[in-house]
Amino acid sequence: MEIIRIPVLADNYIFLMVDLELKIAAVVDPAEAAPVLAELARQQVELVAIFNTHHHGDHVGGNKELIAAFPDVRVYGGAEDRGRIPGQQVYLVDGDRVQFGDYPGDRLRQRIGEVLFIPGHTRAHIAYYFPPVESDVPGELFCGDTIFAGGCGRLFEGTPAQMVGSMTKLRQLPDNTRIWCAHEYTLGNLKFAITVDPDNRELQQRLVDVTESRRKLIPTVPTLLGIEKRTNPFLRWDVGALQASVASNDAVETFARIRGRKDQF
Ligand code: ZN
Ligand code: FE
Repeated sequence: MEIIRIPVLADNYIFLMVDLELKIAAVVDPAEAAPVLAELARQQVELVAIFNTHHHGDHVGGNKELIAAFPDVRVYGGAEDRGRIPGQQVYLVDGDRVQFGDYPGDRLRQRIGEVLFIPGHTRAHIAYYFPPVESDVPGELFCGDTIFAGGCGRLFEGTPAQMVGSMTKLRQLPDNTRIWCAHEYTLGNLKFAITVDPDNRELQQRLVDVTESRRKLIPTVPTLLGIEKRTNPFLRWDVGALQASVASNDAVETFARIRGRKDQF
C-alpha cells in the first residue's frame, strides 16, 4: 500500500491510499474531486472509500462528485458530523475500525484503521490511525486539522480542554507514526513556535530546515510524531519552558494561552 499526497487549493493536501495489486484506493479528506479523479485514472485504480475527518468544505468539497463517479464508494465520517458531510454513510465513534482492502490472510494488504474521536477544531472531528502491519513499518495517522506540523488547528467548535484531551490521545501513538495533516502550514507554525519556545535547539534547527524546504517548495508533510512531541508547542503544554513562557503551571491553561497567542500571531 502506498500513500499519495495531492496538493490542492491554496495549502490543502488530499491523501490517496492506493493498493496497486487490488487496484483500489481510499481517499482522505477530498477537498476537490478533479485532482483525485486524475490521480485515480493515472494509477488505474477504483475508489472504494472516502475517509472524512470533519465537515469543513476544504475536507469534503469533492465528496459529491467522487460519489457520482464511483457510486459504490463508502463514505465515512464522525457520528457527530451527521448531516454535515455530503454523502456520509458510516457514522464512526471512538474505537471503531475501518477496513481498506480485503485480502484474507494477507495482513500487508488488509489495512485496518482505528478511529479516534478528537474534538477541538470541530466538535465532531475524528482521526484515522492505521497501525503498522510489520515491525519495521510506521503507523499512519490521518488527523485532518488537529495536529499540524509545528502547530494545531484553530478551536472553532471545541474548548482548550477538549483539544488537550484529543492531543493527549494522539500523543500516545508510537513516535515513528507518520502524521498526514491536511494543510501545509508548517513554516508559519514554526515561526510562531519559536516565539514561545525560543531555547529549544531542535526547534531552532527545524525552523532552519523547513525554511529551506519551503524555499524549494518541498512538502513538509508527513511529519513524525516524535518530532512533533519535541518541537510542536501544542503538544508541550506540560513542559516547564512552555509553561514559563505563558506564565502558567496548568496544562489546559498553558495550551489555551499558546493557542490564544497563535490566533493573534
Ligand atoms: Zn477544518
Ligand atoms: Fe482544513
